[in-house]
Amino acid sequence: MPVPAPQNTAAREVYDKERAHVLAPWSAWGASDPMVITAAEGCYLTDGDDNRLLDFTSQLVNTNIGHQHPVVVKAIQDQAAELCTINPAHANGARAEAARLVAEVAPAGMNRVFFTNAGTEAVEHAIRMARRHTGRHKTLSAFRSYHGATTTSMNLTGDTRRWANDMGNTGAVHFHAPFLYRSQFYAENDKQECDRALEHLDSLIGLEGPDHFAALIIESVPGTVGIMVPPADYLRGVREICDKYGIVMICDEVMSGFGRTGEWLALDNFRSGDDDWAPDLITFAKGSNSGYVPLGGVILHDRIAASFEKIPYTGGLTYAGHPLACASVVATINLMRDEKIVENARTIGEEIIGPRLRELAEKHPSIGEVRGLGVFWAVEMVADRETREPLAPYGGSSEAMAKTFGAAKKDGLLLFMNYNRFHVVPPCIITADEANEGLDIFDRALDVADSYVRS
Ligand code: PMP
Repeated sequence: MPVPAPQNTAAREVYDKERAHVLAPWSAWGASDPMVITAAEGCYLTDGDDNRLLDFTSQLVNTNIGHQHPVVVKAIQDQAAELCTINPAHANGARAEAARLVAEVAPAGMNRVFFTNAGTEAVEHAIRMARRHTGRHKTLSAFRSYHGATTTSMNLTGDTRRWANDMGNTGAVHFHAPFLYRSQFYAENDKQECDRALEHLDSLIGLEGPDHFAALIIESVPGTVGIMVPPADYLRGVREICDKYGIVMICDEVMSGFGRTGEWLALDNFRSGDDDWAPDLITFAKGSNSGYVPLGGVILHDRIAASFEKIPYTGGLTYAGHPLACASVVATINLMRDEKIVENARTIGEEIIGPRLRELAEKHPSIGEVRGLGVFWAVEMVADRETREPLAPYGGSSEAMAKTFGAAKKDGLLLFMNYNRFHVVPPCIITADEANEGLDIFDRALDVADSYVRS
């Protein structure tokens, strides 16, 4: 989203230097005109002109404990004073404890953690583990998915970010996951959508060669592609299909994990307890330490970990399990437990964000649908409610969306915008007052979107 250059001289210098020397990520999306941020605290950011913005984005949906939490900042400082970095072949206290705590939030039987430096590396390694474990090559992932921006994870990614980056014949096969509002299966309810999506997956595997698939990767609740909360039994059905064909099931919890959906992991919303299904591998990153220091990882089920005792897993990273990152994981998980931050995310979702977004959908004709859990909500914007024509095309932008985004920002609210969707994804620590403040601003900004609706 292009933003005007700051007026303040010091911020302007930062802006100009960035534009001269930094190749911006996803530059095609306008990130080459960056907003300068000079400070951040809790749920608020300060921009280069000293404007205070309520952060309904959690940055890239990672600052689950908000910005600059003093407990986590201190844990990083203390670890830096003690030991900044070591060879990952050596053990250190921060990594050992971080692994124990991460395994504790995963389903029973998932006791081992492989650390990486980001979500995409977690995905790369999870796929390699699945290939090593099965001796097979092909992979399955949803069209509406995002799994990262390195080679394999980019091939797995189904959405438009893959288009310019496709690596050709990599064995990555894509399928339609459930999305009732824009059903590919002409379904009229969740149950039909679920059954038909599972039939489609099963038949696709049959046509593509069941004995050739190493892994199926799926976001437990898809994130950037639109927060399509799956029908209650979908993931359980996917597990059954994976079992039928000996495919390793990977739940990608990079965005949805660590409190975002009001549960520690999003998959917990679709399990009835530890006797229920579990994936073979889980990828995580972002919320595990709110992104204070780069970190990601793979949680392995014991049955996969055991196979690497016979055939070793050949893969590792210089900074895997970095002490500063692991110290921040330990502090973050303990803090989330002590301050009941996951419970807060659930309550705010159930009592404020969900009900108020549904009210906004009644009031504003530009809203086609709202959906979500916890502090993980998507607002699907349409030009026409009857035809469900999106307010911006898939993979593109529109004046209506940009102006609505701009109106909210001018009023002090930073929204997450993707094509025809606004996502309401504030930090999990958000208070009721802050949530209401942001939703009031969003309500006013939606009048702008309404003016583009065809009557
Ligand atoms: N998987 C999912 C579900 C994600 O949302 C993301 C990042 N948005 C990634 C993987 C990649 O993570 P990273 O940007 O840390 O490499």
